[in-house]
Amino acid sequence: MAKQFKPETLCVQAGWTPKKGEPRVLPIYQSTTFKYETSEQMARLFDLEENGYFYTRLQNPTNDAVAAKIAALEGGVAAMLTSSGQSANFYAIFNICQAGDHFVCSSTIYGGTFNLFGVTMKKLGIDVTFVNPDAPEEEISAAFRPNTKALFGETISNPTLEVLDIEKFAHIAHSHGVPLIVDNTFPTPINCRPFEWGADIVVHSTTKYMDGHATSVGGAIVDSGNFNWDAYADKFPGLCTPDESYHGLTYTKAFGKMAYITKATAQLMRDLGSIQSPQNAFLLNIGLETLHLRMPQHCKNAQAVAEYLSKNDKVAWVNYCGLPGDKYHELAQKYMPNGSCGVVTFGLKGGREVSIKFMDSLKLAAIVTHVADARTCVLHPASHTHRQLSDEQLMKAGIRPDLIRFSVGIENADDIIADIEQALNA
Ligand SMILES: *Cc1c(COP(=O)(O)O)cnc(C)c1O
Repeated sequence: MAKQFKPETLCVQAGWTPKKGEPRVLPIYQSTTFKYETSEQMARLFDLEENGYFYTRLQNPTNDAVAAKIAALEGGVAAMLTSSGQSANFYAIFNICQAGDHFVCSSTIYGGTFNLFGVTMKKLGIDVTFVNPDAPEEEISAAFRPNTKALFGETISNPTLEVLDIEKFAHIAHSHGVPLIVDNTFPTPINCRPFEWGADIVVHSTTKYMDGHATSVGGAIVDSGNFNWDAYADKFPGLCTPDESYHGLTYTKAFGKMAYITKATAQLMRDLGSIQSPQNAFLLNIGLETLHLRMPQHCKNAQAVAEYLSKNDKVAWVNYCGLPGDKYHELAQKYMPNGSCGVVTFGLKGGREVSIKFMDSLKLAAIVTHVADARTCVLHPASHTHRQLSDEQLMKAGIRPDLIRFSVGIENADDIIADIEQALNA
């Protein structure tokens, strides 16, 4: 069920095609293990000579069906699920970087990813240089070194809502012989498919719109199959030279376009084990079945909220790329002509104190550490998600201390705006 179907059909049906007498709904294979008849059959699985299930830490049929749906939606050749967006981002980099390597990353990314890359991965000997994604090509190119192995950015950054110029980033990455990895969590493949603009690997926190109901933390990595690892074999020995932990198998030779995902599964998931539970994958799949219906409603409501805020004189500033005056409006029109996402950020006149009072006065919108689900919610990054960052780091990441991140749900827009209005007047 690949590319001949439109996204709406893929959301509902891709990944699981039951045969005669099988369940219509994707079953939860709640089993750690799978049965074989001979010792030889099992041995062939361990040697990656045959494809099959043997232990859920490596692969599980429920997870694989959901990963296949996400791969189809993104237009990739293969995908894998992970236990969280954090583990997806970690694996995406660690699959091609080892101690002594370096990668380049947009400075405007999710706070958790910023810490993972800037602090934790440094402890593993993997170095990162953060660059301003709006800088000219030459400036970003100057951050590359001989040991640079990837370029990373977010399609729409969380929480600063900057839109990535994916074609520019792809051009920079490819001119240095490395893949572009894009975190496409906010627009989802319904609103943007980064592979169509030159990205090579896409990552997701499926915790957000994909699940959509705030039930399950999860992540995904999708491979376009387009990056030619063998053309830069000296940069990617993990993919292009024999893996001693798999009897000298070479991923690019054995798996072609599936080399990257196969290595991430067979090696990283085997050794690090950040699997998504089949139960969570099942819930994620139910969410994906309505992704194409929810995204337009999120965008329509967010547009109404952004327009309301931009006309209110208690509001100091509003960021939403759907607003014609927004700094990223043109880029958004190019990459996401049907809408971006449901997240709007703004600041109130009077600054930080007034912002906090406003948030405490909201009734319909809840203060939660979450974003991008069906229920409208709100968060103050400087006091919540990003409180581990210094003021200097906050400013570097483009986060003003008064920034309110307002995640517009799929309720009625008039009710959401009425809630904002009463809180502004409180
Ligand atoms: C939430 C988020 C993550 C981290 O995902 P978890 O599922 O919370 O681990 C990564 N990237 C972006 C853009 C996010 O919004």
